[in-house]
Order: sequence, then structure tokens, then C-alpha cells
Amino acid sequence: MARVYNFSAGPSMLPEEVLKTAADEMLEFGATGQSVMEMSHRSKEYQAIFDEAEANLREIMNIPDNYKVLFLQGGASTQFAMIPLNLMNKNKKADFIITGQWANKAYKEAARYGEARVVASSADKTYSYIPKTTAADFDPEADFVHICMNNTIYGTKYNELPQTGDVPLIADISSCILSEPIDVTKFGMLYAGAQKNVAPAGVTIVIIREDLIGNAMDITPTMLNYVTHADNGSMFNTPPCYAIYIAGLTFKWIKKMGGLEALREMNVKKAKVLYDFLDNSKMFKGTVVAEDRSLMNVPFVTGNDELDAKFVAEAKKAGFVNIKGHRSVGGMRASIYNAMPIEGVEKLVEFMKKFEEENA
Ligand SMILES: *Cc1c(COP(=O)(O)O)cnc(C)c1O
Repeated sequence: MARVYNFSAGPSMLPEEVLKTAADEMLEFGATGQSVMEMSHRSKEYQAIFDEAEANLREIMNIPDNYKVLFLQGGASTQFAMIPLNLMNKNKKADFIITGQWANKAYKEAARYGEARVVASSADKTYSYIPKTTAADFDPEADFVHICMNNTIYGTKYNELPQTGDVPLIADISSCILSEPIDVTKFGMLYAGAQKNVAPAGVTIVIIREDLIGNAMDITPTMLNYVTHADNGSMFNTPPCYAIYIAGLTFKWIKKMGGLEALREMNVKKAKVLYDFLDNSKMFKGTVVAEDRSLMNVPFVTGNDELDAKFVAEAKKAGFVNIKGHRSVGGMRASIYNAMPIEGVEKLVEFMKKFEEENA
């Protein structure tokens, strides 16, 4: 078996230990005589898997009791509609900061249901920074403020949250969930598709303050109403059972690793290996301003499209796969989520050094 170093932005690497446990339990989970895939979601065996996953997530993220944790389907993209349908319900207004394609998609979807306003944007410099805002920039009458915490495509992240006063802050944390501690109480709602840092695609994690549930617009489809899922323990219909099971294994792995403080330390150290190299290379350059750099997604370029293509091809041959940049920005991007070991980044940097020497 030769596993590659997979720098994919998502779906992406999962911890090897998680995959091995899943493999061991594939034909028979515990003494049930069946795979988790084959279990009734109403069985007590599956309910135990589900409850343990939720409890561990609550523990790892320190989620207060007045927040619901929901395991939904439809990806983070479905949240772009669910959020306005459920929460743009008092003044029918919401504020958005546009830090890339995902933030923009959330904004555009909300604009279909109410008055969505762009407060700030970093489109002027290809989203290479996080725009600064002050409390005065936000509408105190807005029903919520939406941000994308870590911008998967452009490689920026918020290190300081916008000051939104009493207006609930909602963040898309799809590509940074569980990468470092986060103060849940600062948010009305957090959400993430699982396929970047948690599990296979198919489950979306929603963490929402209880008082924000229960006031959806009349047109809201039953399946898109948070009440439906909150009142039924995410089992109004069949949940993405297997993806939730894998998420549960990842949560256990995180606990074993020492929790989110330990992961932050590991992720900072890991990202520094790559950023330090980029800061000193004559050929490769990072594309993001230093203070807003993501720990998870690191875009870089040589400034020469042919050289970029040559690098991507040679990297692939050497076992560093999925390192091509997003189709909208070109260049390269190394996504280094929790499951990417530091050796993967160290070896990539060695390879980049060699490539630089050979192509100088
Ligand atoms: C990947 C990604 C999405 C889209 O997720 P889907 O689950 O494919 O809908 C949204 N936001 C961010 C920040 C992402 O990284």
C-alpha cells in the first residue's frame, strides 16, 4: 500500500487511524452482526453511535447547553438558503462580508429572501486579505451578520471577529472546523460541511443558539426548517448515518490527540514550515497578506503559468497530489487539514526546494 500526501481542499485526507477503525468495523460493528451502513437509524445501537458523536463534539468545542447541534444533509451550500429562510425573519435584513466565493454565494442566496447588504469586500485584491470593519459598519437592525471564517479557495482566515454588537454573528467554518479552539458563545450559529476536516461528504454540522430557532418564514420547506431537525434530534428523516459515524471516529481521534488546543499547536507548527519556506523562496510566493493567512489552505504561485503546471505535474509524480490551485485562481494550493501529518508538509517543502534549484 502506498498512500500519497493528499493536499486536496475537499474531500480531503482523514486520519489514518479513523480509516483503519472504519475498515475493521466495516463488516461488523461491535457484536451487531452488521455494518453501520446497514443499521436502522432508529436502532438503539445506532442511536448510541449518534449520541456519543454529539457528546464528543460538544465536549471538544465546548458547546454551551443553549446551543443545538444538528447533523444535516445538503452540504454547507444548503445552509446558504436555510440561514435566510430561518433567520432573516424580523427586519428581513442581513449584513455580509465578502471574502471569497463561498461568502458571496451565501450573500446571493440570502438576497433572494430579503435585503442582503455587503458591508465589506476584499474582491479588489482577489480576496487576498480580510477586510477591516468597525462596529459602526453594521446595521443594528440586521437579523444577522454572515462571515466565512476560513476562505478555502483564497487561503485567508479571520483572526479577529467583527464587532456586531447584539446582532447574531453566523460563520461558515467548513474549512476550519476543529482546527483550533473557537468561542462558540461569540456566534449565533456556526456551520460546516464535513468533508474538509471531519468526515466524508454527506453530513453538515450546524451549531445554533436555541433562541434563533422557531421563527422561519412561512414559505420555508419543512426539511429546511431548523425546528424540524432540532425537535427530532436530527432524525426527522434518515440522517447521513455513515458520515455521522465517521465524524464520531474523528471526534474520538481529536480527543486522543489532546483536543483543539493541541491541534492548534500542531497546525500552527505545520503551516509555519510551509509559510517560512514561501517567505524565503525566490521562486514560490504565498498570495495572502501575512496577518490573515489560513492554517488550513495555503495558496502559492511562481508567477509563471507554465512553471506552475510543471510543478503540479512533477509533484504528483512524487506523491504530492491535488496541489493545483482552485480553477478560479490558478497556481497551487496546499490544503493541510488536521489529518495531514507534519512530515507531509516537510517533504513537500524539500520537494519545492529541489524543484526551485533544478528550475532556477
Ligand atoms: C467547501 C466549502 C463549502 C461548500 O460545501 P458543500 O458541502 O460542498 O456545499 C462552503 N463553504 C466553505 C468555506 C467551503 O470550504
